[in-house]
Amino acid sequence: MARVALDVPSDTLFDYRIGPGQRISPGDRVRVPLGRRTTVGVVLEVASESEVPEGRLRPITEVLADEARLPPDILALLRFCHRYYHHPIGQVVATALPAGTRRARPLRLQHRRRYFPTARLASTGVEAVPARQVVARRLALRLLSSGSLDEAEARRLSPRWAQAMARLLEQGLAECRTEPRRPRSASATARLLPLTEEQEAVASAIRTGLDRYHTWLLHGVTGSGKTEVYLHLIADVVNAGRQALMLVPEINLTPQLEERVGTCLPGASVVTLHSGLPEAERTQHWLLAATGHADIVLGTRLAVFTPLPRLGLVVVDEEHDPSFKQQEGLRYSARDLAVLRGHDRNVPVVLGSATPSLESYANALAGRYQRLTLTRRAHAEATLPQVRIVNMRSCAAGELLSAPLKAALRERLARGEQSLVYLNRRGYAPVLFCSGCGWTSGCRRCAAKLVLHATDQRLRCHHCGAETAIPARCPACGNADLLPLGHGTQRLEDALRAEFPQIRLLRVDSDTTRRRHAWQAMRHAIREGSIDVLVGTQMLAKGHDFSRLTLVGIVDPDAALFAADFRASERLFAQLMQVAGRAGRAQRPGEVILQTRFPDHPLYRALAAHSYDAFAQAALRERREAGFPPYVHQALLRTDGLRLEACLAFLGAAAHAASELKQARRGVTVFDPVPAALPRRKGLFHAQLLVQAPSREALQRFLDAWVPRLGLLSARRVRWSLDVDPLEF
Ligand code: ADP
Ligand code: ZN
Ligand code: ZN
Repeated sequence: MARVALDVPSDTLFDYRIGPGQRISPGDRVRVPLGRRTTVGVVLEVASESEVPEGRLRPITEVLADEARLPPDILALLRFCHRYYHHPIGQVVATALPAGTRRARPLRLQHRRRYFPTARLASTGVEAVPARQVVARRLALRLLSSGSLDEAEARRLSPRWAQAMARLLEQGLAECRTEPRRPRSASATARLLPLTEEQEAVASAIRTGLDRYHTWLLHGVTGSGKTEVYLHLIADVVNAGRQALMLVPEINLTPQLEERVGTCLPGASVVTLHSGLPEAERTQHWLLAATGHADIVLGTRLAVFTPLPRLGLVVVDEEHDPSFKQQEGLRYSARDLAVLRGHDRNVPVVLGSATPSLESYANALAGRYQRLTLTRRAHAEATLPQVRIVNMRSCAAGELLSAPLKAALRERLARGEQSLVYLNRRGYAPVLFCSGCGWTSGCRRCAAKLVLHATDQRLRCHHCGAETAIPARCPACGNADLLPLGHGTQRLEDALRAEFPQIRLLRVDSDTTRRRHAWQAMRHAIREGSIDVLVGTQMLAKGHDFSRLTLVGIVDPDAALFAADFRASERLFAQLMQVAGRAGRAQRPGEVILQTRFPDHPLYRALAAHSYDAFAQAALRERREAGFPPYVHQALLRTDGLRLEACLAFLGAAAHAASELKQARRGVTVFDPVPAALPRRKGLFHAQLLVQAPSREALQRFLDAWVPRLGLLSARRVRWSLDVDPLEF
């Protein structure tokens, strides 16, 4: 009898009878009947008895015997996710596997043929081939000189290669073997750079523990060359015959990393895994990793579930990045699961960042992780940029560019250097406003304003995508005097063009990079030097290394200082430090100009001093005093529905169910149900209930008792889900 996880919202496994001749073990994929259809699931257990009476047990339709079997450590990881995130096991499994594995057919690695010279050819030489068989001779020569040929290489020699090769095979001069088709391995021209003294100290500390679990927090300032440290460690691990898993926030934003990883280790095979890959390709990459053919897996959060039989190292780059947390369905944290995987497989984990999450920083302070620091930039002549804070209080409201920023831009233009002006808000203005009656452009489906987009003259909701034309008159009072309030990147672009009419300016935000490959072309232009000024959102803050960029201007960052979300200041600090870190990464020194109305704010002071520690210690002190994570542990019960009252009523019943728990409730605080920070989205109301406990254990004990009761509550017209360790509220 096999117990199978199916992709249905049920918390249980499904029992099936193992037919005669079917050989099944946990981790196998099987096709089974479900109602009137059949579906694909994963066997988690094989047992001798079932609670389902023998007569009603249905048989397994088909065992999909193939290379996509899940190993025990992945099954254990999935079970952990089921228990810890309180998510239905079948849906955990479905989330963790690439879609291709849910198809009802066996999955096979694609193979390709490779041709080798036989001993006979080697001894007789090319003379064995008659001179008039020109193509066969050419192939034989090439087989001897390069040792082997694949189809593509042979085709390049001659379009008539197939016939000629067949003749060589017939005559026993060549032989053919098949091998898994690996992703095109880049010509390994680049090499690992020799490490600086500081990098070497860090790398050798980690090297001492490559044979066992340990979590290292690699805290290195922007430009300190963390990537190079990862690559050296990965090379060590791969040379020792093991696999490395490297998680990054978004691969598409930093394709140069993919190039770098692909080219610096000759002979190593690298696969990428992210949601942007076509399904067939993703399945093949996954299989290459799972069968041990790939040495390095470079992927986004979903790659944390990849089976890796020879795993030797886990790296999480930019570990602070919120995108490691999935925000729907199984709301897992890939960073946390990466640490767990390292622990279970007894291999080291390296979490790297210039601005570690406060969770990881606190773990390092508590001695659970070991912090290693890089305090200097790797490039011999590079130093950290100088940060100037410009007080905008004396400027007219709405003024975007201060005199010092304009002067600094002018200097860069004169010297032929690049500048970046950062404003983390896309569109032209966040809202359109009627000066007559006070009307503002609101979204019908969301509790949010429609953002004015000037380039295509639309009002657009950034939450649901709804859009309309810009009204000529106020829909409320008919007044024609409608004003844009506030500013976004498009308006900043206009202001810069008005000030510097001849500049070559490029705006980089999700509006301008939506088209496939657009960002790639832009990066090329930036590197080539055909851009003077970059304007953009946080897309520009991530990991880029533009050597001619020497000035970063930061415009209007203040709103996040006063946001209700207790994590807002952590995010702001990380973003600003990352974007500031784009300046002066090579020979030419960098400068950062930060425009603010709160020049004395401690967050900005810490930024100007490049002191992550000053910021983090103050922030942790505040969190401790206020009773926020990482000093408490949280779970958020989320609901949405067409009526706010229904959501709140469900949450009220959930709170009541909690109050009935006695033992399990100890130490746990259940807060009142409240509307979410954005209470209406896409026409649905959102409300939530926060639960908080002094330890993970206490929180889990409570959830174990509480969540099953939630399933019994009447949830008419309300959808609910649980978010353990929530990042967003
Ligand atoms: P980080 O990710 O820490 O911000 P990067 O890995 O992008 O830093 O490295 C910053 C720059 O320093 C890159 O241009 C990189 O090529 C260079 N670099 C890194 N390590 C070395 C080294 N050992 N010697 C010379 N240049 C280096
Ligand atoms: Zn009006
Ligand atoms: Zn909307």
